[in-house]
Amino acid sequence: MFDEATLGMISAVMGAFFFFNLLSGSSRTGSKASAFLYASCMVMTASAAIIPRRQMANVMTACTVPKTAALTFDDGPFSWHNQIVDTLDAAGAKGTFFINGNNYGCIYSNDSVNRMQYSYSRGHQIASHTWDHAHLPTLDETRMEQQFNLSDVAFSKILGVVPTFMRPPYGEYNDLVQKVAADHNQNVIIWDVDSEDSMGATAEQSEQTYTNAVERGAASILTLNHETHESTAVEVLPFMIKLFKDKGYKLVTVAECLGYKPQDMYQRRTKPGVRDDSWTCVGTPLPGQ
Ligand SMILES: [Zn+2]
Repeated sequence: MFDEATLGMISAVMGAFFFFNLLSGSSRTGSKASAFLYASCMVMTASAAIIPRRQMANVMTACTVPKTAALTFDDGPFSWHNQIVDTLDAAGAKGTFFINGNNYGCIYSNDSVNRMQYSYSRGHQIASHTWDHAHLPTLDETRMEQQFNLSDVAFSKILGVVPTFMRPPYGEYNDLVQKVAADHNQNVIIWDVDSEDSMGATAEQSEQTYTNAVERGAASILTLNHETHESTAVEVLPFMIKLFKDKGYKLVTVAECLGYKPQDMYQRRTKPGVRDDSWTCVGTPLPGQ
């Protein structure tokens, strides 16, 4: 009925009231004033101790289910989105897309909407990469909240769901990111093997990175790739699929590699919305801001 903070406040006030009454029954003169002071101090001390604890989102940097590999693709939806989905589907694999609202394109464009509906309807995981690929730890709470909220509203309108997983751009997070993510009921996902495609790695270099991870006997693999690189979609993805499958890894969503059920990927399921004037990136933060 009451949350922890409310119960703490009630018990502190009751305790102070009890002591006030107990001491004010004393025959000593002046005891009422000192008892009142004592009671006040108790309330103040108790109040200081019951500032609501910050609820912090979990941060996951690795899969927890042995022999799973989560193939993740950031920064889309972009041109190779559907091709990635087709390649995953042909291999019986599931992937995870960390989607931006306004980065390489606007999430409400026809292309973006079609791509998201394509991957979502085929059971791949849609997760949030927040709105415009900002450096979240540089933002105050209002602007950070906006980064989460604009994306969640867009997911709800386009797909009828809000993701329960997010990845902060650049993998950058601080206490406030964890707090705002918790407010949005989202887990924070990082990675443990980076293809470095966003840092200019060639397909061969990315493939070598994954080969090294497998050869050192990684218990599980949580990848970082970007769907904005053609070589990632066309070359590295088929290589990864074969490499991981040959070594006995199951290719699953981020949710599944962390032991969650498919229904845990999303919250607040509704019917997708119908396009209207609110489906726009106009007036929202521009990429990288
Ligand atoms: Zn990114």
